[in-house]
Amino acid sequence: MRVGVIAFQGTVSEHMRMADAVLGSGSALAVRRAEELDDVSAAIIPGGESTTIGRLMRNSGVFEKLKQLGDGGFPIWGTCAGMIMLAKEGDGQMRRTGELLGLMNMKVKRNAFGRQRESFEEELELEGIGEFHCVFIRAPAVEKVYGKCRAIAHLGKYVVAAEQENLLATAFHPELTNDLKFHRYFLEKAR
Ligand code: GLN
Repeated sequence: MRVGVIAFQGTVSEHMRMADAVLGSGSALAVRRAEELDDVSAAIIPGGESTTIGRLMRNSGVFEKLKQLGDGGFPIWGTCAGMIMLAKEGDGQMRRTGELLGLMNMKVKRNAFGRQRESFEEELELEGIGEFHCVFIRAPAVEKVYGKCRAIAHLGKYVVAAEQENLLATAFHPELTNDLKFHRYFLEKAR
């Protein structure tokens, strides 16, 4: 199987390296045009700057296509900025982010951990995955999940990983570790 990594900005090569390690080299495809999504059976939206990634996704047509595919059961995983893009709702800072894909029943808060904790690492227990070393960088967090969306990891008062049928979102960056467990989890689910 092939997986597309939305490749405008952010942790693109890191996700491609991890996906190749799970599926075999050449399995990850950098996606910058909507048509390229026809060649893959799952997609990852990387971490980075959600305002930039969102704008480039909308300008390229990748946004519309991904929204349709996601609605129809196509597996999509968003990390950090990618998590923001998948959400239905955001906090006040979202005005600058622009339109979200709005696929997952969750409300996210951008830069939820503030300046004091811009980046940090935590060992967390992830439901269905086990213990995982989670790297947070100016991370968003989920303030609430509803409907079919469910929490798979918590940190303090926040949800930091969520799953909704074909969709997966993490506030942290498994692609910045050497642990393939999370990529395996998503790609197994997508298969
Ligand atoms: N703070 C970034 C945003 O709001 C996300 C950071 C990240 O993806 N590491 O877009």
